[in-house]
Amino acid sequence: MAKATTTIKQVLHYQDAHAAWFAANQVLFNQVAAFYYEVIQAHERVLYLSNTDALTALEKLTHTTQKNPTPVMPLEDILEDIPAMFRRAAINAALGSARSFYSHLQKWRKRKKKAEAKSKKFHERPPVAPRSWNKSATLYAGLWKERTGSSIVMKVWTGSCWSWIKVRITGRELPAGLEMGSPQLIRRGNQWWLHTPVEKRFKSPGKIEKQVTTNAQTKMCAVDLNINEHLAVCTIQTVEGSILATTFIGGGRRIAGFRKKQLGRIARNRRKTGIIAEGEQDNVALWSKIHNVDEQVAHLVSARIVQFAKQHEATVLVFEHLGNLKPTKGKYSHRGNSKRAYWMKGRIFKYCKYKAYNEGMLTSRVNPSNTSRECARCHSLVARYDTGKPCLGYTYGAPLVSCPQCGMKGNADRNASLVIGQRL
Ligand SMILES: [Zn+2]
Repeated sequence: MAKATTTIKQVLHYQDAHAAWFAANQVLFNQVAAFYYEVIQAHERVLYLSNTDALTALEKLTHTTQKNPTPVMPLEDILEDIPAMFRRAAINAALGSARSFYSHLQKWRKRKKKAEAKSKKFHERPPVAPRSWNKSATLYAGLWKERTGSSIVMKVWTGSCWSWIKVRITGRELPAGLEMGSPQLIRRGNQWWLHTPVEKRFKSPGKIEKQVTTNAQTKMCAVDLNINEHLAVCTIQTVEGSILATTFIGGGRRIAGFRKKQLGRIARNRRKTGIIAEGEQDNVALWSKIHNVDEQVAHLVSARIVQFAKQHEATVLVFEHLGNLKPTKGKYSHRGNSKRAYWMKGRIFKYCKYKAYNEGMLTSRVNPSNTSRECARCHSLVARYDTGKPCLGYTYGAPLVSCPQCGMKGNADRNASLVIGQRL
């Protein structure tokens, strides 16, 4: 079985006073986590135990009960009556940090030993244990109840007592039928959110190599990413070569136009202000505007690619390797624009990969050399030309191709996407 985790982020709506409670709750959570981190440091051997056994051991060291009236390091010193589930969430947070720190430390010691054995100088600094704690509180079962699509009741530390409060939630609903993890109370700026991890389990998709070598009917979705109007051209084909469907995902001109405008503004602002202070970001608002729109487009395009592949029951997504960014000549806005278009291709690939995986599809990349110069039918070199021009030579970026060998004529990007699929 394979599993995919997504986080559902929902906005909380609460009275002003409750924001202070959430903050107090988080402060206490971090106090308790920091306390357990110290307990672990004093008893490093608990790190050799499994999480469940480590939890039991740490509770024995800290938790006062009738059977265990005098623990070595009592948690009561911080606060009495901490709910068991609050304590356990904090213990697990501390364990996670401790395991990560000690494994880094071990690796560092190994590298140091190795260097010393070869009598080389070793300048690398050792990893540093966390000095301040700023984790978000996780709400284990028992700390929340009565969760619906629009509200949740949770138990929080108000700063003076434990209190159950009902909070309204809005935003994306929890998908039905998935396994829900423990929600976290997250602060972003002045707003408190509820983040809930959900886990989907599905039959693990077989290795790509196995899929394409053992089943000629395996459907692949081959994707050609571009920086012209067609940001992505996708073709569904079977391993034995039947072409089943093609889609063109547009919007490239609009995003390029938008970027050009913003980059032009930045360039004008820079001319006005003259020198830019080193290490200081200028035009912050304009840059973040560009970034946000790029991000949004990358998410939209990747979602549409995966949706198209899913609709046609493809089980493999194929892209070409991006290669290096080729520097372009021209005005600042033009150079900046092509750089960002190149980055966006990378982001579309990255988002496609995880979105496809969530749908049980695997993603692969193939060698990009000459994918747009090769004929998808007979693999000779094609002529690439503009509409209304003679079909000769190779005009970079032109929309049409024609093959002098087999007579194939068609859209250049679609031809490239077919070649990408065939390479796999
Ligand atoms: Zn041909």
